[in-house]
Amino acid sequence: MIRRLQIRYQGTVQGVGFRPHIYRLARGYNLSGWVNNDPGGVTVEVEGELEEIEKFLKDSIGQAPVLARIKAFDHKEVKPIGAQEFVIRESTQNDLASTQVSPDATTCPDCIRELFDSTDRRYRYPFINCTNCGPRYTIIERIPYDRPYTTMKIFKMCPDCEREYRDPGDRRFHAQPNACPVCGPELVLIDREGKKLSGDPIQKTIELLEEGKIIAVKSLGGYQLACDATNELAVQELRSRKIREDKPFALMAPDLETVRRYAFVSSEEEILMSPERPIVLLRKRESPQLAPGVAPRQNNWGFMLPYTPPHHLLMQEGGMVLVMTSGNLSDEPIAYQDQEAMERLKTIADCFLLHNRPIYIRCDDSVVRVFEGEAYPIRRARGYVPRPLELRFPGKSSLLAVGAHLKNTFALTKAGQVILSHHIGDLDNLETVKAFEEGIKHLKHIFEIEPQMVVHDLHPDYFSTQFALSLDLPKLAVQHHYAHAASVMAEHDLSGPVIGVSLDGTGYGIDGAIWGGEFLIADYCSFERKGHLKYIPMPGGEQAIKEPWRMALVWLERLFGPDFWDLGLEFLNQLDREKTKIVLASAKAGVNAPLTSSMGRLFDAVSALINLCLVANYEGQPAIELEMIGEQNETASYHFSYLEEDGKILIDPEPVISRIVEELGSGQEPGDISARFHNGASKMVVEVCEQLRERTGINQVTVSGGVFQNFWLLSRIKSWLEEQGFKVYAHRLVPPNDGGICLGQAAIGLRRIKDVLGSSNEG
Ligand code: ZN
Ligand code: ZN
Ligand code: FE
Repeated sequence: MIRRLQIRYQGTVQGVGFRPHIYRLARGYNLSGWVNNDPGGVTVEVEGELEEIEKFLKDSIGQAPVLARIKAFDHKEVKPIGAQEFVIRESTQNDLASTQVSPDATTCPDCIRELFDSTDRRYRYPFINCTNCGPRYTIIERIPYDRPYTTMKIFKMCPDCEREYRDPGDRRFHAQPNACPVCGPELVLIDREGKKLSGDPIQKTIELLEEGKIIAVKSLGGYQLACDATNELAVQELRSRKIREDKPFALMAPDLETVRRYAFVSSEEEILMSPERPIVLLRKRESPQLAPGVAPRQNNWGFMLPYTPPHHLLMQEGGMVLVMTSGNLSDEPIAYQDQEAMERLKTIADCFLLHNRPIYIRCDDSVVRVFEGEAYPIRRARGYVPRPLELRFPGKSSLLAVGAHLKNTFALTKAGQVILSHHIGDLDNLETVKAFEEGIKHLKHIFEIEPQMVVHDLHPDYFSTQFALSLDLPKLAVQHHYAHAASVMAEHDLSGPVIGVSLDGTGYGIDGAIWGGEFLIADYCSFERKGHLKYIPMPGGEQAIKEPWRMALVWLERLFGPDFWDLGLEFLNQLDREKTKIVLASAKAGVNAPLTSSMGRLFDAVSALINLCLVANYEGQPAIELEMIGEQNETASYHFSYLEEDGKILIDPEPVISRIVEELGSGQEPGDISARFHNGASKMVVEVCEQLRERTGINQVTVSGGVFQNFWLLSRIKSWLEEQGFKVYAHRLVPPNDGGICLGQAAIGLRRIKDVLGSSNEG
């Protein structure tokens, strides 16, 4: 019996080789019909024997190309028309209007095989790709996703490439960046002066790396800086040239086996090998060691595997473990344009391994940790962006959520979906601000989104806030820690109310103080602050973040008065007495000393008190180093005290600090003190949540904020809360740090857009 079925697939099914996949299957099962891209998906009609159609349907999903993400599909019977052939219908301009632009993808196994096959016409060709792999997001200038609208437009395909590109049965059918040594981009190695070095660029690069040189490598979304990770001199040289004192460097290893030699890999394997190929944080093995300068005072290595053909060539033929860090000077955004890279990186790199395929939009490497066997994002960028989050939101409204200040990302919504931008960076310098503005423009364009509203942080001085205020759109301000909580709610589709535990560095509070140790009762309509760390002045404001000893000093003065100098604490000897007087005076007078309830600042104080980290060279360093020295087997903990004020729980760290001072006096190990502090902070969270549950009956807890990058806290808080019967929700799709703020802003904005638009019409 002949039947005809119409099937619609939704999700990431365009530009990922889905149509050729359908074509091959349909032909294989002797079905006639057609396949077509249409807005938001792919439509197929197949006609033939029912049995064959059923097999086709099953395989169309089960054997879908690696990059396809089928989110939904449905089908209905239509009348057979007796067609003979199966065809791929050419998409009309209109059909492609809302093509989903897919992320850049790691070189696929088929392309890797050809890359190392000496008989293949693309043997050792550094720009080999197909519909299952290669650049996407970073080369697209505009939609539709077609070669003339990508940075590949400057290369004209040779007849061989053209044939593959036109052949629906070929793996390179409509692979927009398709290229070969005859017609495509080329790799060159040049020195700082721009002089081309002779010989094979890959071989020569390997030689230079072996000699201890630093090479800038043009990758997918920008330049990376590479050096031999076993050569301490090279690593130190890179640190000093890049002006990066302590922040750990990422690594690239040839294969999983090599990674295993240096680090413990269990459930991380899947993420290391995934098409997204992020940097994965892995626990270091004691030996063998890499150069100590790679990740000083860390228990983890950040490893990634090669993800472009030049990486594969370098790693296969060189066999080294390389430092592979972003190509920038300290806090600037990653360099991605050739001229600009030569200019900005010439004081850092000895040579440049680059090519003539332009990068249209920069996109850093992503960073992921694994928590309870699943991804826990730290930085969401290359490989993930711009795939919409796999979440469904109510309403069809479009809005822009501009995120916060540090680790900025922004979000756009359309038709119930949220698209998160790549990691933009800290909006402190002109370059990053430019990247932020250009990024918004670009994503609005490629997804054809015209926001009806803009959501921003409550902080009046953030650049992102000022940018939002400058737009001619209705506006909504969302408190920072509320956005953190809403971000987790959105990920887990919780409607609330929840107990939102937002432990963080800095966020502007509705009372103008700097919040960061917050317990909120929240849903999408509103929140109430039900508990927080007791306020303490932050002398020097921002300066107190860079110099954690300031917080330690304020605590000591509060507890012991001016006599604290007699306590004999080691870290005090390293301070400039005159400077300390100014700091304490400013705290006392409340001049340039905002009040804070920040958990991050409490970590800073402890880190300085035990003389571990007095100056922070990168964000979060004092807390990270405190976590690293923690003695894992220590079970004792310090105790916070609680006060009640206006229906709120005030959490007082005083007894914790005085206990630490006491134990320092009796010669306790810093590792034990760190552990007791971590345990105490975790217990405190559980105790406050229990009190709040008693008062409100709420049993769902969200954990978010930069402090939850600390795995000691994350894992203990989660499991201890669960022991008490709480349902605990942590991040899976976006980072707990401020890189995840825009999702919370968007989730709140989408629920409130009607009110905001309504009131702005009235006004
Ligand atoms: Zn491929
Ligand atoms: Zn060609
Ligand atoms: Fe935050």
